[in-house]
Amino acid sequence: MNKIFLLKLGELVLKGLNRKNFEDVLVKNLKRKLEPCGAFKIYAAQSIIYVEPDGTADMDEALELCKKTFGISAIAFAAAVDKDKDAILAAAKQLPEFLTARSFKVETKRADKQFPMTSIELSQYVGGELAEAFPDVTVDVHNPELTVKVEIRAENAYLYAEMQRQGIKAGGGLPVGTSGRAVALLSGGIDSPVALWMMARRGLRIIPVHFLSPPYTSELARQKVMDIAKILLPWCEKITVAMVRFTKIQEEIRRSCPERLFTVISRRFMTRIAAQIAEQNGAGSIITGESLGQVASQTQDSLAVTGAVTDLPVLRPLIGMDKVEIVEFARRINTFDVSALPYEDCCTVFTPRHPKTKPRLDEVIEAEAALDIDALVAEALAGAEHVHI
Ligand code: ATP
Ligand code: MG
Repeated sequence: MNKIFLLKLGELVLKGLNRKNFEDVLVKNLKRKLEPCGAFKIYAAQSIIYVEPDGTADMDEALELCKKTFGISAIAFAAAVDKDKDAILAAAKQLPEFLTARSFKVETKRADKQFPMTSIELSQYVGGELAEAFPDVTVDVHNPELTVKVEIRAENAYLYAEMQRQGIKAGGGLPVGTSGRAVALLSGGIDSPVALWMMARRGLRIIPVHFLSPPYTSELARQKVMDIAKILLPWCEKITVAMVRFTKIQEEIRRSCPERLFTVISRRFMTRIAAQIAEQNGAGSIITGESLGQVASQTQDSLAVTGAVTDLPVLRPLIGMDKVEIVEFARRINTFDVSALPYEDCCTVFTPRHPKTKPRLDEVIEAEAALDIDALVAEALAGAEHVHI
């Protein structure tokens, strides 16, 4: 008896004609991802992705990686057994769920119409024998705690248990890549990793950009961002972080612009650089971890002034969330502990004492006139380092 995973599609099941494309992307993502765990046969059939080890494979590691895959809502284990009613029954008797469930039913799907029994006949046979073998577990065809699912397919029969309130949860959402690409502004803070994760879940391939300001920011701050990217890697399938040196831009702003506008002007530079990186990579939007009113640079006016430097949509998935909710989320995706480490961010180093909460676009443009914007942006882009995680 051979164990396999059955991955249930999340929202993909709602897709119409192009569902096949979504499934293909998901299968491709899984093939790449599971390669280090051994050889697998991975294919989609009837709203389920089958992950079948082909020889020896590290199934524990493979499970962990499947859990961190977008496009999948839940994972079940199944046994591949011979297409024979008694082999199926023998495997069903070994299901550990029979030790805890109080009621059950058997449900058969028969893709292979050559199989000598109908779905109902097989369910009745296996169900009847199981009822005798487990007299304490009653048969309940309407609302059972345990559903023994049998699928008769071309190569094998597959058997798995579905408990009413259980099952291993996976990421949900859409397969990474099916929504295109986006550039994410990734700081070392708590918010932006959550924002990045949320948008990867919507099927975006993410290109993170981090701004650092050596020597004001340390090597530890850089390492922190790398560590966050590593935690996010399985969810994102592939990550190349663009590390952009921001020191000169910040020094120039400090030298030439009013202190109260410092943060909003910095943000505009970040956005301009992100927009260019988006263009270089065929990305269609910019993601930030901003949440309305959290700080001076996240008021409606500040967001408007910042967003004005690009035509790309700026996606702010945390915009309506409370900090406590964001923190909870960060704990769930495991980025919180690293984010909470105290190393300086380039923004904290240059934070004005009294940032303007209602900047006006005209005054900001006037202040920026003192800077050679294009040259500063070009120089920062030229010096960017692209790190594959
Ligand atoms: P976070 O926890 O994400 O750092 P924050 O509450 O500290 O957010 P800000 O520092 O105002 O908020 O930053 C707002 C957003 O700007 C961040 O969520 C992030 O998307 C972007 N950002 C800020 N600093 C950087 C940076 N050094 N590199 C890249 N993006 C940044
Ligand atoms: Mg920050």
